Amino acid sequence: AFDVLVVGGGPAGASAAVYAARKGLRTGVLAERFGGQVADTVGIENFISVQYTEGPKLVNALEAHVRQYEVDIMNNQRATKLSKSEQVELELANGAVLKSKTLILAPGARWREMNVPGEQEYRGKGVAYCPHCDGPLFKGKKVAVIGGGNSGIEAAIDLAGIVEHVTVLEFAAELRADAVLVKKAHSMSNITIITEAQTTEVTGDGNKVNGIQYTDRKSGDSHHIELAGIFVQIGLVPNTEWLRGAVELSPRGEIIVDERGQTSLPGVFAAGDATTAPYKQIVIAMGSGANASLGAFDYLIRH
Ligand code: FAD
Repeated sequence: AFDVLVVGGGPAGASAAVYAARKGLRTGVLAERFGGQVADTVGIENFISVQYTEGPKLVNALEAHVRQYEVDIMNNQRATKLSKSEQVELELANGAVLKSKTLILAPGARWREMNVPGEQEYRGKGVAYCPHCDGPLFKGKKVAVIGGGNSGIEAAIDLAGIVEHVTVLEFAAELRADAVLVKKAHSMSNITIITEAQTTEVTGDGNKVNGIQYTDRKSGDSHHIELAGIFVQIGLVPNTEWLRGAVELSPRGEIIVDERGQTSLPGVFAAGDATTAPYKQIVIAMGSGANASLGAFDYLIRH
């Protein structure tokens, strides 16, 4: 049995594992895919003190740091059920059951995709999901934001300060974002908002994005907009479906945590993009992983 078992091998999980191992605790890390979202990231320019790195390089560094300690890394393994009696019990997809005194949940999240031709081909070559990360790459260029919810309109306002022009494409007839954000977006001269627009294809020159094709749902007409970047903002979904009923989740499915990363189930902590933490970034995930790990240590010395 473990003292600390971590579910997730992204920045939050790796950070939690290093902090736990450095306390001399028996630590395990279970990951469906070590590296998490970082493995899918091309350039990273906001990992403070590292001016530029690339996803796979950072994943290797995360793994090397965890392996510096006696941590049991169980990669390509998926957790399917969490329960607690005396200890925390974690059921895996392969049927095995792991036991631990404490658990740190760091299963991360996934961006909802448009599922249109060209999206996968041009991912990281103009198709982006994180305006805080990739906005500056499109300085002085034209971009689109897909989605008129809070994250879409926030992204449009953010990007409008950097890029030449932002077109927001929203599927529904109305924007779902808060009125104050919509008002702000309407007040900016370089934002155009198009509603009832169904995105149908990401177009490119073979190397990078050069536009987007959409259908006007009212008229049925098809249109093409020339641009350099497309920010998909149609939802970030936490990987917490399997935790429903085991720990308290917010209406959006995020794990509810307190200041110490403690969930509603004593001894079970959580960190990173899967939690109610409002901003989803690598440095923030790492910080919250360290925080949850110290929370677990505190719990262990009291039980
Ligand atoms: P994740 O990185 O999502 O890791 C989750 C881990 O949990 C993975 O190992 C996964 O396999 C595992 N897992 C999930 N469910 C289970 C399960 N049931 N059983 C076992 N394991 C499970 N942020 C920045 O700061 N800068 C950037 O430049 C940047 N660019 C990005 C670009 C892209 C394309 C994307 C998608 C994200 C980007 N982000 C960036 C956001 C950043 O990657 C995330 O905020 C960060 O990775 C969150 O870390 P995490 O550890 O919480 O989750």
